[in-house]
Amino acid sequence: MKVVLQNVTKKFPSRNKKEKKDVIAVNDFTFEIPDGKLIGLLGPSGCGKSTALNLISGLQKPTSGRIFFGDDDITAVPPEKRGVGLVFQNYALYPHLTVKQNITFPLENLKGKEKMTKADREKRAYEIAKLVQIDGLMERKPSELSGGQQQRVAIARALVKMPRVLLLDEPLSNLDARLRLQTREEIKRIQHETKITTVFVTHDQDEAMSISDLIVVMKEGIIQQIGKPQEVYSDPVNLFVAKFLGTPPIGVYNGRIEDGMLYIGDDAVGKTNLTENTELTVGIRPEGYILDSEGGLVCNLSGVEVMGRDISIVSTHPAAPDQVIRSIISSEKIVDTSKPTVRFKLKPGKVLLFDKTSGNRIRFEFI
Ligand code: ADP
Ligand code: MG
Repeated sequence: MKVVLQNVTKKFPSRNKKEKKDVIAVNDFTFEIPDGKLIGLLGPSGCGKSTALNLISGLQKPTSGRIFFGDDDITAVPPEKRGVGLVFQNYALYPHLTVKQNITFPLENLKGKEKMTKADREKRAYEIAKLVQIDGLMERKPSELSGGQQQRVAIARALVKMPRVLLLDEPLSNLDARLRLQTREEIKRIQHETKITTVFVTHDQDEAMSISDLIVVMKEGIIQQIGKPQEVYSDPVNLFVAKFLGTPPIGVYNGRIEDGMLYIGDDAVGKTNLTENTELTVGIRPEGYILDSEGGLVCNLSGVEVMGRDISIVSTHPAAPDQVIRSIISSEKIVDTSKPTVRFKLKPGKVLLFDKTSGNRIRFEFI
């Protein structure tokens, strides 16, 4: 089931008594979630992710705009008639019911031709429990489960009515780091197997990158960029997106163009096709550095971290105030740690330029 948002806006009246301005939690969202795909809504806390999800589920009504499931305009359809499955950060299981009862609960009150017998309900519950791999835990109470298992029960409960769309709001936030990794792989697998169109909300870029077919990067209620994870990472439209994605983060420097030459601080790092002399912001991805004694970029060496196959050179640069620069290079390269500085050449595709004030991407080429 494809999901389409068409100029969807949600405004809330301000909670601030002095300043009466409305909060625009979701500002003119237009995008299509292709059938059977998993889309990640990514952005910092307060950027409108949950509101966007609630608009799709029907728990909230848009101030303006339309939402379609397939070709059906469902903007005015109440949540229980939309055929959505919801999973939240806190699993919200019924503590006095067993796992099996929690999963069959949404099937209890089906009416008319949807009505199911107890045997059918249990059969369905076991099928779904098997899918999320908790079929061995059906007689337990939620308190007898780990956080990861509880979240699987919540996912099973969301799936048991065979929803047209699955909506997950930060479903992994309450899990510890290891379980988080494991459960996100599980969600990816379940989504692949069921092919249910899924919206996955997270503030964690790593999570969004690893799980999503498409990422929607949001800031203050406004969509910044939509694309495949790799596209958004390597081709960000602005500095916000560039900084939000990537671990270690992109190195950000004050730079300028002078007679076509790109300078980072005082370091000339390459001739460009840009003709206007201007100050700008330079971003370099950690994998964009090549260790080279002739390199134009001269950094102050702080140390070296071994990361298995790769090493991370930790350094600072006068044109990158407040930031430690991490450069990832192959561990076969030898770094002379007795020297105070380290020099780099730069990989052209990994150097991104941004407008100093707007932060918008400036396209260019090295020549
Ligand atoms: P996120 O899920 O990305 O953290 P939310 O969608 O919860 O963000 O919130 C987006 C913005 O809308 C925030 O500024 C938040 O304070 C505001 N907001 C959310 N729900 C309400 C509400 N019911 N009333 C007023 N403001 C709200
Ligand atoms: Mg939220």
